[in-house]
Amino acid sequence: MNILVINSGSSSIKYKLFEGDAFQLVAAGLVERIGLEGSRVLHTLFDEGGKRQIVRTAPIPDHQTGLSLVAALLTEPGLAVIDHPDEIDAVGHRVVHGGEYFSETVVIDEEVIRAIRELSPYAPLHNPANLEGILVARQIFTSAVQVAVFDTAFHQTLPPQAYRYALPNDLYVNHGIRVYGFHGTSHLYVSKQAAAWLQKPLSEVNLITAHLGNGASMAAIKQGRSVDTTMGFTPLPGLMMGTRSGDIDPAIIFFLARNLHMSLEAIDQLLNKQSGLLGIAGNSDVRDVIHNMKTGDAQARLALDMYTYRIRKYIGAYMAILGDVDALVFTAGVGENSPYIRAQSCTGLEPLGIILDETKNQARAQDVLPIHADKSKVSILVIPTNEELEIAQQTMSILTS
Ligand code: ADP
Repeated sequence: MNILVINSGSSSIKYKLFEGDAFQLVAAGLVERIGLEGSRVLHTLFDEGGKRQIVRTAPIPDHQTGLSLVAALLTEPGLAVIDHPDEIDAVGHRVVHGGEYFSETVVIDEEVIRAIRELSPYAPLHNPANLEGILVARQIFTSAVQVAVFDTAFHQTLPPQAYRYALPNDLYVNHGIRVYGFHGTSHLYVSKQAAAWLQKPLSEVNLITAHLGNGASMAAIKQGRSVDTTMGFTPLPGLMMGTRSGDIDPAIIFFLARNLHMSLEAIDQLLNKQSGLLGIAGNSDVRDVIHNMKTGDAQARLALDMYTYRIRKYIGAYMAILGDVDALVFTAGVGENSPYIRAQSCTGLEPLGIILDETKNQARAQDVLPIHADKSKVSILVIPTNEELEIAQQTMSILTS
């Protein structure tokens, strides 16, 4: 079985090809700058000998050309991992927004395509680009079953008291304004890994998962199901992020419009692209902010204090919702790589049964890395996320079910 995973963006396509029941990664890559100057494909082959990287520069005016180049690279003599595009059995597509239509992974048919298109106003930067990837893949990998895996699906189990906003009913009923949550594929993947480490079925574990990347979100997982999450109607609320504000008083927006005469467009940019770590410390990359903090930069310290305070606050909130918690999980770029952020995020939580072991916390995670002290009631785990593998596995399971 060959499963190609595609994450199609507005000017890029990321892909990974997995082979066989063991989901061996055989090729991966990135088509970048689609429709722009300097477009190219960065293609990587994986075999026993290690990695081999190929860069192909070519005009790539659209997704069709981009994905055709990928198909050509996968079958090119000397580089071939398959003989013909028809050897791709399934394509698993990452789709950001599944609304209330999709609580699970689905095989793509005309109705699914219609629904993804209909949901575009809810994710205007993502759903149209995801859809483009689907339409193009159907033309190129004609023998493959096309499957959609939604970022929002895992959070469809939130109960109404968690997903509703205290706004007039009409806005939910007729306009779909509610919490959807994002990063679902990652929260689910690390939850499964955590359950395996705890040696329990997923349906028997309570977890708090923290996906800390450029975008960041946390989820409360009760008996394997998401019951609350920090992102909402959009990926803007919740934690402080690289460039996003996370939670703010929504009335700040009226103040900015009325008193600073900012346009809606400018406020959107401000909250999504100029806030978070960037807004406070002048830099969106946690590595740089930590470096600056160590050289005595007070703004960098403030930014990190705010960043980890918000995480601690949500850990407390989610402990209250869940009662018993088996494990707290850190994942994604920051969660997997920053002992400092992990330690600060757990500081003062000893009364809640969350006790970090600073020596274990300094180790690097290949697989699941436990970093809690022996006496900690809650396990603290660092788990590398792998959204593409989760998409491939879900694609496989829908094909074989
Ligand atoms: P994305 O949300 O773009 O997928 P990632 O999960 O790849 O993001 O995370 C990217 C972020 O991870 C970077 O912005 C950086 O702040 C952070 N990061 C990566 N390595 C480290 C590290 N060693 N220490 C602290 N932060 C790191």
